[in-house]
Amino acid sequence: MKLTRLKIAGFKSFVEPSEFLIEPGLTGVVGPNGCGKSNLVEALRWVMGESSYKSLRASGMDDVIFAGTNGRPARNSAEVMVVVDNSARTAPAAFNDSDSLEIMRRIERESGSSYRINGREVRARDVQLLFADAATGARSHAMVRQGQIGEIIAAKPQARRRILEDAAGVAGLHTRRHEAELR
Ligand code: ATP
Ligand code: MG
Repeated sequence: MKLTRLKIAGFKSFVEPSEFLIEPGLTGVVGPNGCGKSNLVEALRWVMGESSYKSLRASGMDDVIFAGTNGRPARNSAEVMVVVDNSARTAPAAFNDSDSLEIMRRIERESGSSYRINGREVRARDVQLLFADAATGARSHAMVRQGQIGEIIAAKPQARRRILEDAAGVAGLHTRRHEAELR
């Protein structure tokens, strides 16, 4: 799965709409402390369906919305969009009708998140599964958070197994089995 574009507006320190083209090859994000490098990666994890505000260094999901600074009022919503290359047509059947997928997540203060894939409203689950499945296979992408290497070493066996399963791309399968068992 190839990410080609990231658009962020109102998310954490990215108050003005910002767009990032992700060119082929290695991409590095550099800048002084506190300039928003980690926020950028968090925006990417957030649009992929991250549901734990703690892992976004927030004390509630609304905290990801721009909180204001001395000269600038806070915002009431945040939006992140990621564009994924689907020219190989590997997306799930329901979304497999175009060469690129635009995945968007929006949050409004006190009313939670909504998700869209190519403009169509979908569930958080749809987006989470889309990316969980894309992590399957040898050419997968993997997100390694700051501090995560240490977590793997310090984790208890069961937690470590979950980390390894995530990396192996079976997380999506477990979610589906769990959903099937509930029915
Ligand atoms: P380092 O090099 O230290 O890792 P960084 O470039 O990763 O720094 P970030 O942690 O991404 O920096 O950005 C931190 C900045 O984002 C802080 O100035 C913080 O005030 C700001 N910030 C975080 N959340 C919000 C928010 N909801 N509204 C406004 N600003 C925010
Ligand atoms: Mg950082």
